[in-house]
Amino acid sequence: MSADSHPQLDVIAVGAHPDDIEIACGGTLAKLVDAGQRVGIIDLTDGEPTPLSPGPDVRMAEAKAAGETLGVHARVLLHLPNRRLFDSFEARVKLAVEFRKYRPRLVIGLGDKTPMASPDHWQAMQITDAAIFYARLTKWDDYFDHLPVHTISAHLYYSLGFGTLQLPPAAGHLVVDIADTLETKLKAVRCYATQFPKTKEFIYDRIRAAAVHDGTAAGYEAGEVFASTRTLGTRDLVHFLFGQTPADEPRKPEVR
Ligand SMILES: [Zn+2]
Repeated sequence: MSADSHPQLDVIAVGAHPDDIEIACGGTLAKLVDAGQRVGIIDLTDGEPTPLSPGPDVRMAEAKAAGETLGVHARVLLHLPNRRLFDSFEARVKLAVEFRKYRPRLVIGLGDKTPMASPDHWQAMQITDAAIFYARLTKWDDYFDHLPVHTISAHLYYSLGFGTLQLPPAAGHLVVDIADTLETKLKAVRCYATQFPKTKEFIYDRIRAAAVHDGTAAGYEAGEVFASTRTLGTRDLVHFLFGQTPADEPRKPEVR
């Protein structure tokens, strides 16, 4: 198989279940799409069964609608088993094959345990970490449909546990300004009507509160927090400090 038969994506976000990505980083993905980046979502499982959903077909329709709301260019389901997702060689290879196909520069993946919630999230973190490594390993092509190796340049972690979200305490954490995509993010989460019925309406207040909390720490109206797996650096301090939003763009020199 050749990688050219698949469109190259700039960014891939990986979740254990459909709705993980929307809740954790939907605002950032919508913003990346707005900026012209080609963005994809990979769901490791279909998230089913869950208590209130009638079944996988409905959940898949919700995921499709949510992805369209964010404007992502591809959404792939890996069909690994929900509720009994385990880090395994087979799961790592399955995800690495997708990375070799779509050749992202940035992968955004789960970065923490979610105590009192699904243990699949922690397994998804191990699978994603390993698959990023496997994607670039040579002399192993028969495991990967003979797709060429691909090196992913950047890897960010997201957190799903509202209770563990902290103000950025140290280098390596960063906040993406999602003031202009927070409503799109909430709309995308609302696509999951089976997961968040009227009795769980509080989820939207929590998402909004977390966004305001995380954004405020960086001086924005709303934000999503990530941890970079390597220390962040810049070759352009002025752009890094002042050029992050159009409003802050340094003035261009006048043309005479
Ligand atoms: Zn989940």
